[in-house]
Amino acid sequence: MIIVFKPTASEFEIQTVEDRIRAIGYSPHEIVGVERKVLGAVGDERFKEQLLALETMPGVESVIPILKPYKLASREFKKTDTVVVVNHESVGGDRIALMAGPCSVESRKQILDTALLVKKAGANFMRGGAFKPRTSPYSFQGLEKEGLEYMDEAKKETGLPIVTEVMNPREVDLVARYADVMQVGARNVQNFSLLKELGKINKPVLLKRGMMTTIKEFLMSAEYILASGNKDVILCERGIRTFETMTRNTLDIAAVPVLKRESHLPVIIDPSHASGHWDFVASLSRAAIAAGSDGLMIEVHPDPEKAWSDGPQSLKPGKFSTLVETLRPLAKLMGRTL
Ligand code: PEP
Ligand code: MN
Repeated sequence: MIIVFKPTASEFEIQTVEDRIRAIGYSPHEIVGVERKVLGAVGDERFKEQLLALETMPGVESVIPILKPYKLASREFKKTDTVVVVNHESVGGDRIALMAGPCSVESRKQILDTALLVKKAGANFMRGGAFKPRTSPYSFQGLEKEGLEYMDEAKKETGLPIVTEVMNPREVDLVARYADVMQVGARNVQNFSLLKELGKINKPVLLKRGMMTTIKEFLMSAEYILASGNKDVILCERGIRTFETMTRNTLDIAAVPVLKRESHLPVIIDPSHASGHWDFVASLSRAAIAAGSDGLMIEVHPDPEKAWSDGPQSLKPGKFSTLVETLRPLAKLMGRTL
């Protein structure tokens, strides 16, 4: 529900309404960027009649139901685009965020070398997985804490904020000690316990769309994080599973305008997992920027042939650097910078 106050509403009247919202079991969320006081209220739908009755309280002009099942994530709730601030960087503003790095953290040298190379090429975030969700239990599972320490060193060396995956609610505290952005992988998009845990922390979350989640389900997952109290969610389209086998996944490019219409949250594209092949990454990156994506997450490895995971889709640093240069004029054309 959206509660719109009269321009004449007093602080006392607003406070009384907020108290009532809490008493019904709903939580009030301030809606920023509007002229008069507006609150969003989300909670157990069984009690929505009581919430509608707030319209009779002093100072309240109207109570408008949010029709979409995703409430806090919806454009109805917030008309202006959300910019997620990460240290000195941001996602969702004029500058297109460029997150780059290897699929997995493999060694100290690999991470430090890659961090310096991607920074030089123009990346403003460093990615790398220390906890890896692998299809096979016999595949490399990640360096875990040791990997996070290498990422931290790379951050100290380059100043690049770190994006890294968290797979398990039990590991949220550990990963949050190192990460600037907590990544939720495609396979965990509906791990609701994890999403709720991430809603309680004060760190941005990069939520990847699952290979089999609809856009609506994807937004409902974002809603879990927002409803638990964390406003900083970045949506990432990384390809969905279709009948096509020539690419690892099928990039759903339409997800960008659809998500932008439905939600105020920033949207980025991961062309690496979407395609599965390094030689398609440049085309899909250009498509992403043309479609209005707020950023790109690209896998880059100093030696893809020897990568412990996702080598075939990883760009060599030189190729990444060339790609960034070709994307700059395109970004400009879209009224953005890179
Ligand atoms: C990754 O980013 O390395 C990853 C595992 O991605 P996804 O969850 O999209 O498969
Ligand atoms: Mn990967």
